[in-house]
Amino acid sequence: MPTRLSTDLVHCSICLDVFTNPVSIPCGHNFCRCCILDYWKTTALFQCPMCKKTFKRPDISINTVLREIAEQFKDIRVINAERLQQQELKEERDSLLIKLTYSDFHCACKSNFQKRSSVFVKYQ
Ligand SMILES: [Zn+2]
Ligand SMILES: [Zn+2]
Repeated sequence: MPTRLSTDLVHCSICLDVFTNPVSIPCGHNFCRCCILDYWKTTALFQCPMCKKTFKRPDISINTVLREIAEQFKDIRVINAERLQQQELKEERDSLLIKLTYSDFHCACKSNFQKRSSVFVKYQ
């Protein structure tokens, strides 16, 4: 499934979230910088959590392409969340508006009627 694959591409297999400062390690796997560094703190060896390949030293390089994709992915996620929120707000506002229009209509009618009748009384 292509959609699933592209989503997996921007997810770190340690924190299972979208990459934050993604880095590549010599075996070609990518992780968030802090995730892999934290992982290596817990292990005696500098090992890839994915393919179990071990390294002599913590060799990480910033993956700028992946970072950009991850950032875009985060943006899309934020936009989607905002859209959803706006949609909910709009629905809430619409229902409020209906209620307001309904009560306003009644109030306006009443005050107009009172105004008109007082004018009528005055000029008679
Ligand atoms: Zn991570
Ligand atoms: Zn690996």
